[in-house]
Amino acid sequence: MRYYTPEMGSLVRERSSLETQMRGAVDRGEIGLHYQPEFDVVSGSLVRFEALARWTHPDLGSIPPDKFIPIAEESGLIVALGTNILERACEEAVHWQALAPYPIQVAVNVSPLQFARDNFVDEVTHILNRTGLSPSLLQLELTESVVLSGVARAADTMKSLRALGVGLAIDDFGKGYSCLSYLSDLPFEALKIDRSFLKDLTTRRQTRVTVVSLIGLAHNLGMRVIVEGVENQDQMALLRELGANEAQGYLLGRPTADPASLISLLFQRLKGRTAFPKPFLDNSRGNLTQNA
Ligand code: C2E
Ligand code: CA
Ligand code: CA
Repeated sequence: MRYYTPEMGSLVRERSSLETQMRGAVDRGEIGLHYQPEFDVVSGSLVRFEALARWTHPDLGSIPPDKFIPIAEESGLIVALGTNILERACEEAVHWQALAPYPIQVAVNVSPLQFARDNFVDEVTHILNRTGLSPSLLQLELTESVVLSGVARAADTMKSLRALGVGLAIDDFGKGYSCLSYLSDLPFEALKIDRSFLKDLTTRRQTRVTVVSLIGLAHNLGMRVIVEGVENQDQMALLRELGANEAQGYLLGRPTADPASLISLLFQRLKGRTAFPKPFLDNSRGNLTQNA
């Protein structure tokens, strides 16, 4: 038995109204992509941008992905939306590649529903061919929900993607009930530690020990470690000490609508320098876009 409250009714109405409006949102150009940079912790080089969906609704303004992606997943709209996002992100990566002095990857989030489709590998192949992006410049971010269609099936799809040359990262690791056995059953090459660990990383011994263990486990399984949600210098210094490979967060750069300009500016500034982009790290606002 469940109790009904009037708030539940209005939530349901809001959801169904958003779902209806989302159907035409892509065609109307309301769903855009922002790109957040990720850096190598040791060398300081920019290694990739993660594509993050943004919905600008004509009346409601900006609707965060945490709100509309779950609705797109429940309604199945995520399949078409995800394909569209993958295609646009690959196109953008080809564009910024022309400005970059070395290869810079694009990371794209893939919903479990999209991943479970029989034609997912064909679709990725087709998009890479159509856009001309080298497969090694694409990293797909999957969560452990991809095993919902069965571990063996997920592993097969992942092997086909790896055979294409596409990189695979497990996203949000440690959020909820992460199952360690997936790490050895599935051919991930990178593990992205969930940003919830960053909150008390520098103040709570247990969190630090957990992160150290996760980094050790990932490295022993041959995976790189990406840490997301880095917001201050203390976290950055500790992560470097703990051996994390790559970092992403507001300290290093917020999502930007124009990654190509950011690349141009960054490389103009860093010409002849190989160290970590110190001016950005010294910036307490941590916003590479505003600072550049
Ligand atoms: P995610 O994949 O974990 O993406 C990282 C989120 O962390 C982004 O939120 C980003 O803006 C935020 N973030 C980055 N650095 C920091 C930081 O230093 N501090 C804090 N507090 N947050 C930080 P965003 O853009 O709101 O995206 C939320 C989630 O929506 C994503 O989490 C992802 O699960 C989903 N999402 C976004 N775009 C897509 C998409 O194209 N497809 C799919 N399937 N899911 C998407
Ligand atoms: Ca992600
Ligand atoms: Ca994440």
